[in-house]
This record gives sequence, C-alpha cells and structure tokens, in this order.
Amino acid sequence: MRGSLQQKPTRIFYKTKEEIELLREASLLVCKVLAHVGSRLKPGLSGKDLDKEAEELIRDHGATPAFKGYNGFPATLCVSPNEAVVHGIPGDAEFKDGDVVSVDCGTFLHGYYGDAAYTFAIGDVKEEVMQLLRVTKNSLYRGIDQAKQGRRLGDISYAIQNYVERENPYSIVRELVGHGIGKSLHEDPEVPNYGSRGNGLLLKEGLVIAIEPMVNLGRKDIRQSDDQWTIFAQDGLPAAHYEHSLAVRKGAADILSDHQPVEEAEANNPELKSVETLEAHPQYG
Ligand code: MG
Ligand code: MG
Repeated sequence: MRGSLQQKPTRIFYKTKEEIELLREASLLVCKVLAHVGSRLKPGLSGKDLDKEAEELIRDHGATPAFKGYNGFPATLCVSPNEAVVHGIPGDAEFKDGDVVSVDCGTFLHGYYGDAAYTFAIGDVKEEVMQLLRVTKNSLYRGIDQAKQGRRLGDISYAIQNYVERENPYSIVRELVGHGIGKSLHEDPEVPNYGSRGNGLLLKEGLVIAIEPMVNLGRKDIRQSDDQWTIFAQDGLPAAHYEHSLAVRKGAADILSDHQPVEEAEANNPELKSVETLEAHPQYG
C-alpha cells in the first residue's frame, strides 16, 4: 500500500527478554537521532538538512533507517511542520520562528525496529499551540500508565482520548494508530488513540507496542497531501505527535525509547521552546 507508513498487521509476536533488549537498542538509537534533531533545529534550516544528518547518524551506528523505502517512503525522517500531522517528507522549505515541527524516526538494528517521535517548538510559538503540545505529550504517558499486564488495549486508547478530549477543545486523529513493533516495523495489535475502557486485547508481558497520539488543535478531520504521504489537518490548524516504544510488564511498562536526551537537547537549544510535561511521571522500566 503506497502512501502510508502503516499497513494492516497480521498476528501478535510476544518478545523474549533478549529480544526486548535488542528493541531497546534500536529505540535508543532513534532517540539519539531525535536528540540530534533537537540540538540542530532553528529557523533557516530545512527538513532535508536534518534528514541527511539523521541518516548519517543511523548508518554510523551500523543501523538502517527504517522508514526509507518503506512502501516507497523517500526519507529517513518524517518531518511534519504545523498543520502537517505525520508522514511529512523532509523538503527544502526552511523552518521559521513560530513553527512546531513533529519529527518521527525509525531504525532497524540487529534485526529489530525502533520507533519514536517528538514535536518541537521553534522560537515564539503561541501559547495555545504550546498547550496542545504539552497535552499531547502528557496523553502519551496517560496511555503508557495503562500499558501493563492485566489491562486491556482499550484502557490505553480510552486513557489517551479521555485525557485529550475531555477538558480540551482538541481532537484525536482516528485514522492513524500505534502498533506492535519487533522484527517488523508494524505488527499486530493496532493501538488506537481512542476507544472504550475494558475492551480489546488483554495485555501481557512480552507485548511490545508503539503508542503515538496524534492530536489536532482544531477538528479531527485529516487529508492526504498531493505528495501521497503527508497527512494534514483539514482545517489547517497545528497538530502534535509524540511516540514511545515500550514493553508491557507486570507493574508498569518498560519504556524502550527515551525522551530524556531529546528534552536535554531541546533545553540546551536556545532556538527552541521546551515542551514541559504537565505532571510528574513515575519512573518506568
Ligand atoms: Mg514513529
Ligand atoms: Mg510508530
């Protein structure tokens, strides 16, 4: 299926401890790339500039960019500014002050995939948009809170949707979802960012999933760009996207990706406004 980084998965593969460590390595490399992006982002730079550096960094670590060539996707990073929700092709357009830029990256290392994403704010971003970013980032952790043995997939979906839509005028994008991850970039199960508590697959140890809320400032409707890839918010208002890969465990999820180096790069880059988390999160993993 061309024009999509998501495809219909087939069955669930539960992972061994050894496999989970390999998945962690691939995910941590993704975060190294996102941290590099966070250290470099500034007005005047283009998506293409970032993409080239990201690919070099991944190959320097003996890994392969997971998105490049996936269903024909032409780049290492998805770079989705402002009203682009996800799957933006890095181009020559220069970033400018006030942009919010969602960056998604995947790696393939030692036979396993890593996947994570982060939305950055360049310069003087409006407070209403900063709040969209904070809420979206926080909703990811609300989902992760539910990703433990004994809960159901719908508990994750519900926690994200309820947190985002109950007290905010924002909308969850429905057409794109999180996913299992392992020897394939996208495995079963699909992990929607909306749903009902107590529904769906019973979560058990060894399940590795990517949770990735995509939230629009305005309405939930999306459209696909003429480039056959980029997904835009139909109303042209900004969108945000944060993603972690994680392993389901007994007491709490083991987050395999790590936003901390990304947040450090963000804090140390004077061109960026930091997206603070709204609440303290427990230590996972
Ligand atoms: Mg991703
Ligand atoms: Mg993903």
